[in-house]
Amino acid sequence: MAYKGVVSVTTENLIEKLSDTHTLTLDEYAYLIENRDENAARMLAERAVKIRKEIYGTDVFVRGLIEISNICKNDCLYCGIRKSNSSCERYRLSADEILDCADEGYKLGFRTFVLQGGEDGYYTDDLLEGIIKEIKQKYPDCAVTLSLGERSRESYKRLFDAGADRYLLRHETADKEHYEKLHPSEMSFENRMRCLKNLREIGYQVGCGFMVGSPYQTARTIAEDLKFIEEFKPDMCGIGPFVPHGATPFANEKGGTVELTCYLLSIIRLIYPPVLLPATTALGTIHPLGREMGIQSGANVVMPNLSPTAVRKKYELYDNKICTGEESAQCVACLKQRMKSIGYEIVTDRGDIRK
Ligand code: SAH
Repeated sequence: MAYKGVVSVTTENLIEKLSDTHTLTLDEYAYLIENRDENAARMLAERAVKIRKEIYGTDVFVRGLIEISNICKNDCLYCGIRKSNSSCERYRLSADEILDCADEGYKLGFRTFVLQGGEDGYYTDDLLEGIIKEIKQKYPDCAVTLSLGERSRESYKRLFDAGADRYLLRHETADKEHYEKLHPSEMSFENRMRCLKNLREIGYQVGCGFMVGSPYQTARTIAEDLKFIEEFKPDMCGIGPFVPHGATPFANEKGGTVELTCYLLSIIRLIYPPVLLPATTALGTIHPLGREMGIQSGANVVMPNLSPTAVRKKYELYDNKICTGEESAQCVACLKQRMKSIGYEIVTDRGDIRK
């Protein structure tokens, strides 16, 4: 097939090239996405699983996700907890409630706690510093990960100095125009990227990521995401399908697929072999075996919910989110069984990147 001066490019030889060199051009990434088929998916997954096994064996890392607040000053068009959603019942957890979740999580074998939430001004640097210090003092063998959106460089620095180890901030899309179609005008692509750069410079292990199948996404914008990941080399990369939420402007948009999400998980593993790659709850939401399929495509992290059962349903980023009724212990037992059923094992470990 004629392709930019090369006589015959096939997905097969692009996959070979990617496995060998961990880099493709933007056009090549776009080609790999546009021309994907079952054969290419199988080839990518085989290689991704092989290279991941060389680094992580059959270990799957767990992160205890504590959803600390669904109050948010932002109005991201895709998100169920956006500020304009008046049907969302709002809550926030107190410092004590967050610590209780960590206590329970520790007993269940978690060695990483992820504090995630909307951009809620209640959580000042002072308050968060206290929470982080308390968790780290009580559980020095644990990592604290924050996922609290965009904050100032000074704030990120204070929280890092208080002991936070990692920060998850999905870039959402590496294409500025696409970013602007997903976010209100008060938010900016430049600031998102600046935050990621600041986090990296301060010394955090940093996670970026994007939704698969978000409105206006194209093979070209995904290629840009992949190029960004190739260059930024995030320690973590969260990708999951976009799932429409009925009370957002994107209620009637199509959601992302398991197939493309898994395909991209394999590609990302090959781009940056040590990356910590979760099989997300969103993937488990759109298919009963979504998380297993994610692991079998190259993911190596799962993030069960540790939030108090009373608030779980309220942290509804998208419709039909799974695991909102279970106790934390049930979620862990269920995931352990699921991983075991495909030949993997959940480990009690901080789960740092093995670079
Ligand atoms: N406020 C924090 C945490 C956001 S929630 C922040 O800005 O980083 C974590 C992620 O959930 C988001 O980054 C987004 O990519 C994802 N998300 C939000 N709405 C979603 C939806 N409808 N479908 C799938 N994923 C969604």
